[in-house]
Amino acid sequence: MSAAELAVRATRALAAAGQADMVWGHAAVRDPEGRGIWIKAPGWGLEEVDADRVQLVSFDAEVLVGTGAPHKECHIHLEIMRRRPDVHCTVHTHAQAAVAFASLDTPLLPVSHEATLFGGADVPRFTLTGGLVENPDLGRALADTLGDAPAALLPKHGLVAAGDGAGSAVMHAVLLDRACQTQLMAMAAGPVRVYSDAAEAAAKRSQCWPPRQIDAGWNYLDRKGSSR
Ligand SMILES: [Zn+2]
Repeated sequence: MSAAELAVRATRALAAAGQADMVWGHAAVRDPEGRGIWIKAPGWGLEEVDADRVQLVSFDAEVLVGTGAPHKECHIHLEIMRRRPDVHCTVHTHAQAAVAFASLDTPLLPVSHEATLFGGADVPRFTLTGGLVENPDLGRALADTLGDAPAALLPKHGLVAAGDGAGSAVMHAVLLDRACQTQLMAMAAGPVRVYSDAAEAAAKRSQCWPPRQIDAGWNYLDRKGSSR
């Protein structure tokens, strides 16, 4: 499968997972020839993306294939990929549960399988700005905040996720949003009293989220996204 096609599949899978915000948010896939990233063209919803609605954007944020300008926040993807050669796909969305949870400024607790993706540690948060990550400096700062983590929150904005492939990047975004949603539900009902300690959370991270489970979740979302 080409990187362009993979970018389409990842983008549509995010829509199937409920992460759409009208025409905003995107997944990006590293170009195997090192020319940049494949990412959806602005103006389309996640579920509307097809082979004619993706662009190849260079590491200097120039559109090499496709038409029009790139998404303003393409720097998120470009700078994470520049910093992390192991990353082949990145996701940025305005997932609502993630935004709502981040506004509480409370640690993400391992109350669910999803939250153990972070092994009991809190999720990184990008606090330099709540506005658009619209230039390389902000992109680099965000990449520094993410570090080697699978995903990070952008308070007042959304989330970012990264992976060695489209499946893991999409799943990291979806699992973070679900973890936020579950903790929000619990906190809305009362104080959170039961959650994994650090040892159980770390063990569950390996137990619940080995590559084959990530693949199984991704394959499901890919089927859902492709059938729309
Ligand atoms: Zn954004």
